[in-house]
Amino acid sequence: MAKRHHEQLAIIHYPDPRLRRAADPVRHFDGELATVAERMLQLMRDAKGVGLAAPQVGLGLRLFVMNATGEPGGDEVFVNPEIVDPQGQREAEEGCLSIPDVHVQVRRAQRCRIVAHDLQGRRIEKSGADLVARIWQHETDHLNGVLIIDRMGPGDRIATRNTLRELEARFVRKSTGR
Ligand code: ZN
Repeated sequence: MAKRHHEQLAIIHYPDPRLRRAADPVRHFDGELATVAERMLQLMRDAKGVGLAAPQVGLGLRLFVMNATGEPGGDEVFVNPEIVDPQGQREAEEGCLSIPDVHVQVRRAQRCRIVAHDLQGRRIEKSGADLVARIWQHETDHLNGVLIIDRMGPGDRIATRNTLRELEARFVRKSTGR
């Protein structure tokens, strides 16, 4: 990974095209990667989120951070994650730090396992249910360019239309204003 100024990493918003690209596997488990994860955890905390994936800070890497408990010891990092053995179906409301003011019902597996690596490249395998399984699935979606608005039903599609249009207009203004 090229050297860059990680303190400048910031959360990007829909419809930034970087949110739509499939991210590349992480190959180097180095200090650079740890610095990126630490900065992402900080951005997630500042935004009062429970999860943040690398594409949400404009990095095309298969990596996400999360904290399901809100406790200081609850920080977790998953590198090159795969969701396996999804079971059951549950619908619940989700938001996304990259889509401000949008909350929609999303159907996901109620429980699943995740296979990944930690920041040292060691293999992790965990089982989770409910909120934890939901965060794993939401963040892994980000690594494949998938957003909650791709998974919402027709009612939410109508309810969120104006907010999404406003975000699209804001993105155009920001892009052309430079
Ligand atoms: Zn999200």
